[in-house]
Amino acid sequence: MAILVSGVEWPGEGEAAEPVLASVLELPEAAILHAKLIRRSLDARQRRKRWVANYKVELADEAAVLGRRGVRLWTERDEERYGFVDRRDIRRQAWPADVRPVVVGAGPAGLFAALRLAEAGAPVLLLDRGSEVDQRVKQVNSFWRGGELDPESNVVYGEGGAGTFSDGKIYTRRRDGDLGYVFARLVELGADPAIQSEAWAHLGTDRVREILPRFREHLRGLGAEVRFGVRVDDFLVEDGRCVGVVLGDGEVLRRGPVVVATGHSARDTYEALVRAGAEAIARPIAIGARIEHPQALIDQGRYGRERGDLPPASYRLTHSPERGRSAHTFCMCPGGMVVAATNHLERVVVNGMSFAARRAFWANSAIIVEVQPAEYPGQDPLAGLRFQDAIEQRAFRLAGGDYSAPAQRVEDFLAGRTSRELPRTSYPHGVSSVDLREILPEGIAGGLRKALHQFDRDIPGFAGPDGVLIAPETRTTAPLRFSRDRALHSSTVGDLLPAGEGAGYAGGIISAALDGVRTAESLVERFAPRATVGVRGG
Ligand SMILES: Cc1cc2nc3c(=O)[nH]c(=O)nc-3n(C[C@H](O)[C@H](O)[C@H](O)COP(=O)(O)OP(=O)(O)OC[C@H]3O[C@@H](n4cnc5c(N)ncnc54)[C@H](O)[C@@H]3O)c2cc1C
Repeated sequence: MAILVSGVEWPGEGEAAEPVLASVLELPEAAILHAKLIRRSLDARQRRKRWVANYKVELADEAAVLGRRGVRLWTERDEERYGFVDRRDIRRQAWPADVRPVVVGAGPAGLFAALRLAEAGAPVLLLDRGSEVDQRVKQVNSFWRGGELDPESNVVYGEGGAGTFSDGKIYTRRRDGDLGYVFARLVELGADPAIQSEAWAHLGTDRVREILPRFREHLRGLGAEVRFGVRVDDFLVEDGRCVGVVLGDGEVLRRGPVVVATGHSARDTYEALVRAGAEAIARPIAIGARIEHPQALIDQGRYGRERGDLPPASYRLTHSPERGRSAHTFCMCPGGMVVAATNHLERVVVNGMSFAARRAFWANSAIIVEVQPAEYPGQDPLAGLRFQDAIEQRAFRLAGGDYSAPAQRVEDFLAGRTSRELPRTSYPHGVSSVDLREILPEGIAGGLRKALHQFDRDIPGFAGPDGVLIAPETRTTAPLRFSRDRALHSSTVGDLLPAGEGAGYAGGIISAALDGVRTAESLVERFAPRATVGVRGG
């Protein structure tokens, strides 16, 4: 038996935890048989910032400390949640040779769905329209340096999906067994083991790019086929079931079931899914701009001083008025950069990215306002995509049609005037001075204004002369959701499994990965259930 001890002061890198734990538990150090750090976070609420930690602890006698504050028994759920359980150990029946799943999309959802299927012995085929990561990095860098946008391989399409050019924040509010599975696999594939205990873990785009080739080779090692530069244009449906896919070059692959993890930017694939008969409904989104400040301003606002040896400060701000639209900050990237994240020609969309060291001069985050489906131009499931697209198109045109992004100083935005000059920003294509009210619908612009006033009280200087808005941030979540049955198939097309962020069931790298695992797991349970005595072995 073990116990969970929470809220203990973390002794520091390389320092033993036993003396601190012994003091907290009022036991001699020798009574602590084993201690493992399972969660660490910075408590920045007090004047004295301190790291607090949770430990899994084995004692000679647990009963003596149970009932104390911050101490409870370690459970089986904790064991799963923190990644101490290995699903590969579960004995399963052999995967039937005639069931050959396809996974479309090699973002977090597709990669983890393919991995889970391959681990269960499925002959899985993973397809992605974009390039392998090394090639993709070259394509994206070329675009950011003023070259052509490749509409098939870019910041959102290609190996690793939208998570590749990201901050690589890998925390999520969900806490369950699959989370431990995802983190354990990331570590096996080369991620820093510290991600398993860091409460606000992030990888950084550089680390993500290192992990992806290992992920690909690992999948191939398990027997999966992985193909890039292959776009799925249609889904073959016969008698209400998906029996294959049609590729961009006309090739027909008759195999399935088909997991569709194509993200929220593949508008053509959304259309193909609707054409195939998959039922979807429009859902609310949140839209706005990226706000960028010098990181030092955020450090000062959060820590009350220069950061010294603390990590670059982060924030998460919300504005929930009694009347009117709520707004919040999202995907904050300390020490990061604002990036051009369009996959569509002649559109501007921004997002945020950082490297593992988070050493850039700037801090940015999305500042976004709720939008309801009633505001979309139509009632059909794809109406939200058209709403986003119209804003992205306006942004491209008003910023001069060269992929520079419309920008406005926060002060000027609040005063309702176009900025006469703009500060230097991290945005690779450069920015153009535009009154953002010409791009964002009034409801959104008004919501941003109100939120900015409040956020300036939360972090002094937030709406001051050093803040700049770079727009538009339109792709924060999928504006539609595909309905799924209990086994996670489309509720209207069997053997078609919409998964991840694009399907409307995730919002971020880890939640997309979790949905991919869950989707695959439903197929694993169907085709290779747990073995019982007397059935064919697996
Ligand atoms: C710049 C940026 C920064 C981000 N930062 C973070 C962050 O720090 N933390 C976080 O949690 N989230 C972040 N996100 C969001 C996160 O990346 C997504 O939530 C996540 O990647 C969604 O995963 P997914 O697998 O569902 O879809 P995606 O990652 O979008 O992957 C979809 C894949 O499908 C492929 N595809 C699409 N259509 C087809 C087709 N027809 N045929 C074949 N392949 C197709 C695409 O090429 C793509 O590779 C960021 C996103 C961006 C763009």
